[in-house]
Amino acid sequence: MALLQISEPGMSAAPHQHKLAIGIDLGTTNSLVATVRSGMSTVLQDQHGHALLPSIVHYGEAQQVIVGHEAKVKQNADPVNTIASVKRLMGRSLKDIVDKAHIPYRFVSPPSDDASQGMVLLDTRAGLKSPVEISAEILKTLKNRAQAALGGELTGAVITVPAYFDDAQRQATKDAARLAGLHVLRLLNEPTAAAVAYGLDNAAEGVYVIYDLGGGTFDVSILHLSKGIFEVLATNGDSALGGDDFDHRIYCWILDQIRDANPSKQPLSEKDTRLLLTKARQAKEWLTENEEAQITCKLSSAYTVDVTLTAAAFVELTENLVRKTLSPMRKAMRDASLDLTDIKGVVLVGGATRMPHVRQAVQDFFQQAPLTNLDPDKVVAIGAAIQANVLAGNRSGDDLLLLDVTPLSLGLETMGGLVEKVIPRNSTLPVARAQDFTTFKDGQTAMSIHVLQGERDLVSACRSLARFELRGIPPMAAGAARIRVTFQVDADGLLSVSAREETKGVEASISVKPSYGLNEDAIIDMLKSSFSEAESDKKARALAEAKVDAMGIISAIHIALEQDGHLLNAVEKEAISKHIKALETALAGEQSRAIHDATAALNTATEAFAAKRMDESVSRALAGKNIDEVNL
Ligand code: AMP
Repeated sequence: MALLQISEPGMSAAPHQHKLAIGIDLGTTNSLVATVRSGMSTVLQDQHGHALLPSIVHYGEAQQVIVGHEAKVKQNADPVNTIASVKRLMGRSLKDIVDKAHIPYRFVSPPSDDASQGMVLLDTRAGLKSPVEISAEILKTLKNRAQAALGGELTGAVITVPAYFDDAQRQATKDAARLAGLHVLRLLNEPTAAAVAYGLDNAAEGVYVIYDLGGGTFDVSILHLSKGIFEVLATNGDSALGGDDFDHRIYCWILDQIRDANPSKQPLSEKDTRLLLTKARQAKEWLTENEEAQITCKLSSAYTVDVTLTAAAFVELTENLVRKTLSPMRKAMRDASLDLTDIKGVVLVGGATRMPHVRQAVQDFFQQAPLTNLDPDKVVAIGAAIQANVLAGNRSGDDLLLLDVTPLSLGLETMGGLVEKVIPRNSTLPVARAQDFTTFKDGQTAMSIHVLQGERDLVSACRSLARFELRGIPPMAAGAARIRVTFQVDADGLLSVSAREETKGVEASISVKPSYGLNEDAIIDMLKSSFSEAESDKKARALAEAKVDAMGIISAIHIALEQDGHLLNAVEKEAISKHIKALETALAGEQSRAIHDATAALNTATEAFAAKRMDESVSRALAGKNIDEVNL
C-alpha cells in the first residue's frame, strides 16, 4: 500500500463543496455501505433500520429484481432464481467452480465470443445472468440507499475485496460497480480497510494481523505498515469455516438432547431443521453476553424443545472449531517469516469474532489483547468510507491517499522502439527494481533513457513519462559497457529513475509522478488495449528485435571489413557485400522471417572471414614469443 498525493496544493475541496463518497463492504453473506459525515464515519441503514443487506438477489415472477432481506425469504422456495454468495463466483469460469453439486443454481458456460470473458453464467427466470450483473444489483441497492440517505449524486465509491482476490475477481468487481452506475474510486483490500478503520495508518509502524471470522469464511491477513503504507505480507484462511459451523454444533447438540423424545429416529423435516438452526444461531449470539441460553420451540410433530445450553458447554462443543483457525494463522506467520514478537497489533473482523472464546484464543495465540472497540461487522465498510472520503478530496491539502500497487507497468525504451518492463503493474509500493543495459555501438559515450508507462510492447503504444541522458560512458566495444538502471517508486507514488555506468561510476537521474493525470478509465483503456493488441504487439516485437539484431551484425561486419578486409580476395568481398545488400533489402520490409533468413545467410557467408580474422589475431599475439611465454 502506498501513498500518492492526489490533490494539487490548494486544490482540495472547500467545506461547502463536500463530495458525497461511500465505502462498500461487498460481502459473501452480507453487504454494507458507509460514509463520512461531519468527520464521523457512519454505516447507512435502510428504511427499516437495517445496516446489513443480505447479499442475495431474487429474480421474481413479475420480472422484478428483489435484493436483501426480502430475497432471503425466497431462498428455500425458489433457490434457482435466488442467488446467494455470488461473491464466490466473481471472475470464475465454469471449471473453476468445483463444488457445483452443492450449489442449487443452473450454471451455463458462456459462448467463447461472449463479453463476460469466460465467466460462468447462471440460467434464471430473467435470462442468463453473470455474477457481475448479479453483484451489480446488490451494489445498485446500496447506491440507492446511500443516495436516499445523503440526498445527492455520489462522487464515487471505495469497494472492498479480499486480499487474495486475483485480477479477474477484482476486474469483475469493478465491472459490477460500473454496471450499477457507481464510479469506483478504488478497490481496497478488506484487511487494509479494517486497519484504516482503526486508524492504524497513523499508528506505529510494524506488522498487524487481521483475523476475520464471518458467517461462512475465515481469513487471516498479515499487513506490514511502513510510512502509512500497508503491504500484504501473507494471507491464509478456510473458505468453509465460520459462525454457521458454530450454529451447526449447537443444532447437533439439541438433536442429541431430544433424541430420547424421538425414538422413531425419523429425520427432521426441512422446516424443523431450519427452525432449529435459527434457534441455535440465536443461542450462540445470546451466549456472547450471557452465561446460559434457553432454547425453546415447537417442532411440526408438536414436540416442544426446551433445553438449556451453558456458555461453558458451548465452549466445549466448539473448541475444535476455534482451534481450526489457528493452523491458517500459523501458516500465514510462517509464510511471512514472522515470530509472535513481531506482531504490533491484532484486529478482529466479522460477527463471529464477538464470541468470547474466539477472542480469548486469538489473545492466547498472539499473547496480546486484540483491538475490539469497533463493531466487527462494520469495520470493513467504515475503513472503506474513510478511504473514499480522502479519495474524493474532502480532506485538507496534505492528505494522502492509499495506493497499494502500481496501476500500470513502468519500463524503458530499448532499441527498435520496444519497451522493456522494469516494474510490472500491480507491484506493491514502495518498490525498487534494477536492470542492466548495455551500449549498442562501439565507442558509444552517451545513452538516452526514455521512461514509459503501460502494458504494450511498443513505445508508440505506451505513455511517455520522461526522458534523460546518461553522458560520459567510457568508450568501449558495443555490448561491453554495463549500465544499471534503477527504478524506484516511493511511498508517495513518486518514481525516480537513475542510470549508472558501472566502471567509471557516471550517473544521471530523474523524478516523475507516474499516476498524475491518469484517471481510472485511462488505466483501464490501456490495460484493455494490451489484451486486445497482444498478438499484433508480439509480431511487432519480433520484427523490431530482428531488425535490431540485423543492424548490429551489419555494423559489426563493416567494422571488420575496414580492419581486416585485406584477408579477403575480391570474390569473397563481393559475396559478403551481396549478402549485406540482401539483408538491407529485407530490413526495408516488414517481414521478420525474411530478416531472420537474410541474417542467417549473412552469418554463414562471413564464417570463413571470421575464422581468418581469428587466425590472424592469434598469430599476431604469438609473434615473437617463445613457447614458455605462451600460457595455454
Ligand atoms: P458476518 O459475515 O461478518 O456478518 O458474520 C456473521 C456471523 O457472525 C454469523 O455467524 C453470526 O451468527 C455471527 N454473530 C453475529 N453477532 C454475534 C454475536 N453477538 N455473538 C456471536 N456470533 C455473532
